[in-house]
Amino acid sequence: MQPFTYERATTVSGAIASVAKHPNAKFIAGGTNLLDLMKLGIERPTHLVDISRLPLNRIETQPDRGIRIGAQVTNSDLAAHPHVRAHFPLLSQALLAGASGQLRNKASVGGNLLQRTRCPYFYNTHTPCNKRVPGSGCAAIGGFNRANAILGASESCIAVHPSDMAVAMTALGVQIETITATGQTRQFAIGDLYSLPGATPQIETSLASGEMIVAVHLPTPPRGQQIYRKVRDRASYAFALVSVAAIVERRNGRLASSRIVFGGLAPRPWRADAAEQVLRNGKAEASTFDAAAERALADARTEGSAGFKRELAKRTLRQTLAVAAS
Ligand code: SF4
Repeated sequence: MQPFTYERATTVSGAIASVAKHPNAKFIAGGTNLLDLMKLGIERPTHLVDISRLPLNRIETQPDRGIRIGAQVTNSDLAAHPHVRAHFPLLSQALLAGASGQLRNKASVGGNLLQRTRCPYFYNTHTPCNKRVPGSGCAAIGGFNRANAILGASESCIAVHPSDMAVAMTALGVQIETITATGQTRQFAIGDLYSLPGATPQIETSLASGEMIVAVHLPTPPRGQQIYRKVRDRASYAFALVSVAAIVERRNGRLASSRIVFGGLAPRPWRADAAEQVLRNGKAEASTFDAAAERALADARTEGSAGFKRELAKRTLRQTLAVAAS
């Protein structure tokens, strides 16, 4: 671990100015991912700006029953919030499916969104990894890759995005609010936050240098049933092999609307638009769910040891839809 300096920020503008002033500075909040990466020498900031005590820890209910969530709200507090549990149960379920109680007590909403992949080769500094050292190669391709991506990957990187919360937030259509290094406020859909790896897997988000996430906006609660289902190697404290966030509205025996997002399959939360089209106005029955699952995974990679995820994802989606539409 290389030496670094540390300061605790008291204002958002001060934190942003401090990161802009130091050439290799980073924000730190809960530190549940960054500290591990620093200990392994994967992240090597020379200055840390602690933003965990900034006044960004409020959950504010809006007149449209949406909510504005400060980026420093902990995962535990967000999952337990009465309005979230009542109107966005998908988000509570996803948060509680992630990590452990201790980690959720420390992890912030902003940090959860920006956590790095858990591809084992990314954490092993003795192996090639294009994300860690651009141009060095990818040890996961042809290596131990059963937890890696089957959708949205590239020849440079097949890592998956690890967050459960981001999968639920994508299904719920959240907006991300940031402040740039020049003090401008930006707001954009979560779908525009994450980049696909292409030839530059080291670029994971659309955030500019020194830009800070300050809040997440949940819109009016959607109609219909919300379900988050996560399949993993053990019952807790494990990342998803496959997860599904589903919001399904049923009317007169038909599926009036639906939103489907996968986790554990791709470098970012993966919206299954084609499956949603299959479901639109379809009968709420097994044959419709089967057709949607086939369409959702039609482009999935099947080679390599992650190939089993294709069938696992189809089964998980069918089951989730059957419960959500019942
Ligand atoms: Fe690195 Fe991505 Fe390859 Fe994993 S899949 S070794 S993160 S380049």
